[in-house]
Amino acid sequence: MKKGDKHNFGCVKKDYIFLRIISLAIAVFDLSISLSIKSYNPHAPFYIVWTAVFFIAFLSLFISTITSKFVKENASTILYVTYFLSSIALVYNCYSYDFLVEQSWLIMFAISAVTLIIRKLSHLVLYLITISTSSIVLLFWMDNPVVSKQTFSMTLIMLCLIVYFSMRVKFGAQSALEQSQDQIRQMAYYDALTGLPNRNSLNDYLNESITKADKTGQKLAVMFIDLDNFKNINDIFGHNFGDMLLKQAGSRLLSCISTEGTVFRYGGDEFIVLLDNTGEKECVSLAERIIIDFSHPFEVYTNEIYSSPSIGISIYPQHGQDAETIIKNSDNAMYLAKKHGKNNFQFFNQGLSRTLSRKIDLENGLRKALQNNELFLCYQPLVEINSRRIFGFEALLRWNHPSLGMISPAEFIPLAEESGLIVPIGLWVLETACRQSKAWRESYSADILISINASGYQFTYSDFCKDVNEILKGAGSSPESVIIEITESVMQDSRLASQIVRELKEIGVKVAIDDFGTGYSSLGLLKNLDIDILKIDSSFISDVSGNPNTLAILDLIINMGNKLNFDIIIEGIETEPQADLLKRNSCRFGQGYLFSRPLPVNDIEAMLKRNKEIYQTSSIGAAVQ
Ligand code: C2E
Ligand code: MG
Ligand code: MG
Repeated sequence: MKKGDKHNFGCVKKDYIFLRIISLAIAVFDLSISLSIKSYNPHAPFYIVWTAVFFIAFLSLFISTITSKFVKENASTILYVTYFLSSIALVYNCYSYDFLVEQSWLIMFAISAVTLIIRKLSHLVLYLITISTSSIVLLFWMDNPVVSKQTFSMTLIMLCLIVYFSMRVKFGAQSALEQSQDQIRQMAYYDALTGLPNRNSLNDYLNESITKADKTGQKLAVMFIDLDNFKNINDIFGHNFGDMLLKQAGSRLLSCISTEGTVFRYGGDEFIVLLDNTGEKECVSLAERIIIDFSHPFEVYTNEIYSSPSIGISIYPQHGQDAETIIKNSDNAMYLAKKHGKNNFQFFNQGLSRTLSRKIDLENGLRKALQNNELFLCYQPLVEINSRRIFGFEALLRWNHPSLGMISPAEFIPLAEESGLIVPIGLWVLETACRQSKAWRESYSADILISINASGYQFTYSDFCKDVNEILKGAGSSPESVIIEITESVMQDSRLASQIVRELKEIGVKVAIDDFGTGYSSLGLLKNLDIDILKIDSSFISDVSGNPNTLAILDLIINMGNKLNFDIIIEGIETEPQADLLKRNSCRFGQGYLFSRPLPVNDIEAMLKRNKEIYQTSSIGAAVQ
C-alpha cells in the first residue's frame, strides 16, 4: 500500500468518530427531553425507554470506536438490535395511544423493519433514520414549552452535520475502496518486479489488437523472448541477482521497442513484445536490434553479466487465428531459436507446430507422470544364445500417457533429460526394478540379474552412486544381482567415466556399456575401465548379414572383449540366422525379439513359472574365460 492510501483511510476514520460523537450528542439530547416531559405527558414512559435505548446503543458504539474489540466487531448488530427494540416500543406506543396521531411512528417502524430485513442498508441510512426520528420527536412536541425554537434549530444543525459527515464517510470509504481496487488491478495486470504489464494484460491487449487487426486488415506480431542461460545465472548468483537482471532486461526491451509496441513480462525469464500494424520486415529489424542491444553486458551489483535472448516470432493472422494460438506458436518458434544455438530469432512455421506442441505437451505431461502412476516398467529377457536360457532382464521404462497412449522411451527420455526430470524418474526406475528383482529371486529361487539403464544426466545432476547404494540397501537387494547400464555418451568425459565405474564397482554392482558402437567409446578407453559387460548396439546385428566388414568388426570386438575380461551381449537379435551367426562367432549372450519382447511383470512371471531353468549367472560379468 502506498503512503497516500493510509492517509486516506485515516481521514475516513476521523469522520467516523465525529459521526459517532454527534449521534451520541443527539441521543443525550433526546433522553434529556424525554426525561423533562415525563411529569405531564402520557407518552413519557415510552419516550424515556426509547431514547434511553438509543443513548446506550450510541454510547457503546462510540466507546467501540475507541476501545472495545467486541463492540467494534458487533457494531452493526448492536445498531440493528437498537432498532428492533425501539420498533417494539413504537408498536406498543401505537396500540396504547391514539393510532392516527402516532402514524408517523408507524412509518418509522416500517423503515426499521425493512432495515432489519435487508440488513444491508448502510450506516448512512441508519443515522438518517436516527436523526429524522429525533426531529419528529421535536416536531411532535414543538408546542411544548420545554422544547424551544432554539432547541429545534440546534437539532436541525446537528442533522445537517450528521448528513455531512455521513457523506464524507461514505465517499471517503468509496475513494479508499476505489484506490484499493486500483491496487488490486495493478497487481493483477502488472508485474511487481519489472512494472511491465503481465500475462493477464497480454491476453486483453492481444484480443483487442486482434479485433482491431480484423477491422483494418493489418497484421500484428508476437515476439516471445527468453533469456538464454538465465537459470544458471539465478542458480550461481542467487535470486536477487536474477531479479535485478530481469528488471534491466525489461528496461532494455522497452528502450529497444520505444513506441513500436508493448512489452509484457510473460513469466520467469520470458518477455513478450506485441507489435500492432507490422510485417515480417519490421519484426526482423526489431529482433536484430534486440539481439545487438543484449550483446552488451548487464551491470548487476558491479558485475558484468552477459545474457542473450532467443526470440520466437508469430504473426497474426497467418500463424494462428486466436490469441492463445499466436502466443503458443511464438513460444514454439522460440524453442526453435534455442535449438538453433540460442541468441537468434526464428519465425514460426506450420511444420514446427506439430513436433513442438507435442514436445511441449509431453514435457508438461511428464511432470505429472510419476505422481499419476503413468510410468511402469517392462522387462526384456537377457538370454544365453546357445541354450536359450534366461539369465536376467533389462528393465525398460514405459509411459502410458492419459490421452496420447503409449509413448516410446526414445521420445520421452530425452525430454526427461532436458527438463532434469530424469533424476526423480531414474530413482523410481532403480527402486522399482531392484524390488522386483528381489521378489523374483525369492519367489523363483532364481539367480536372476536385473539390468537398469542410467542416463548421463543422472551422474551430472545427482549423486547417483550414493543413491544406488541406498536404494539397494533399502530394497534388500544384493549388489551382484544388479547391472547398471551406462550409455556411451558418458564415456565422452573419460575422467568422469572412470570415477563412475570405480564408485559403482565399489558398491558391488556390475557395470555395462550400453549401445556400444554408436557413440564415443573406443576399445582403448574401455581397457582402462573396470567394466563387466559390453552391450553391442542392435545396428550391428541388423547390418551383419549384408556387410562383411560389420562381421569382421563384430568378431574383433568379441575377441577384444574376451581378452579384456568383459562379457558381450548383442542387442536386437530378431531372427534365427542372426542367432546362428552369433553362435558361430562365439558370441554367447543376446537380447532381442527372437527370444522375447519387453513384457510387463505378469507376463514375465508366467514365463518364469514355465521356464524354471534359469541360466546360471555366476559366470556373467565375471568374464568368460
Ligand atoms: P536400450 O537400453 O538400448 O534398450 C534396448 C532397446 O531395444 C529397447 O527399446 C528394446 O525394446 C529394443 N529392442 C530389444 N530387442 C529388440 C529387437 O530385437 N529389435 C528391435 N528393433 N528393438 C529391440 P526401448 O524399450 O524402446 O528403449 C529405448 C531406449 O530408451 C533404451 O535403449 C534406453 O536407452 C532408453 N531407456 C529405456 N528405459 C530407460 C530407463 O529406465 N532409463 C533410461 N535412462 N533410459 C531408458
Ligand atoms: Mg539399455
Ligand atoms: Mg541398448
